[in-house]
Amino acid sequence: MTAKAYSVVFLFSSFIFAAQDASTPMPVEPVLVENEPLHHVVLKNESVVVIHLTLPPGERTLYHTHTHDRVAIPLSSTSITQQVWNEKEGPPSRSEPGSFSALTLAGSSYTHRVHNVGANPYDVLDVEFLVRPQSPSPVTAATVAAENPSARIYNWNLAPGATSAMHTHVRPYLIVAVTGFTLKMTAPDGQSITHEIKRGDFHWVDTKVTHTLANVGSTGGQIVEIELK
Ligand SMILES: [Zn+2]
Ligand SMILES: [Zn+2]
Repeated sequence: MTAKAYSVVFLFSSFIFAAQDASTPMPVEPVLVENEPLHHVVLKNESVVVIHLTLPPGERTLYHTHTHDRVAIPLSSTSITQQVWNEKEGPPSRSEPGSFSALTLAGSSYTHRVHNVGANPYDVLDVEFLVRPQSPSPVTAATVAAENPSARIYNWNLAPGATSAMHTHVRPYLIVAVTGFTLKMTAPDGQSITHEIKRGDFHWVDTKVTHTLANVGSTGGQIVEIELK
């Protein structure tokens, strides 16, 4: 090696040490999703963990590991990429509010990081199902919009004045507001309750429920119900 090559190597090493000194040490190994600093657990019970991720434009999450079937509900418009552990960063894909996806865990874990390559914060609810049922419930509440081995999704797009069909949940479910609007829920006996809901509001229900969902406001609304199988 020539003297010049030695000095280049030396300078490069110094730069690496300087960069490490200047910042908090980054974990080399992936973290569990619940321990990823931008992922915040907002509900946890024996059946589900609901995690809210807000990823600023240009930033990446740490590599993190999912160990369950899950549903992702984007709440903002941006573009993201996914990078699976030990693989190249994938192509950008659009994220739009209400464009939910039901993801099935293959194998025992899935490790990736997310990069927000768009102009707006990436705001998403991640619902993780702690128990995959041996024998799923055969009873569905409505048309299934998406599903995985653990849960079914019902999607209600409600124009102002619109009411859903009356339907029954025999299994626990999470109701999520994808848009803010005035939601009126009515039971078969006519009793009703009206809520002003905001985008990202959610509520866990673990009793049998029969109801309609109505939009009694003046703007369009979208509700996603995620029911355990
Ligand atoms: Zn993730
Ligand atoms: Zn319902």
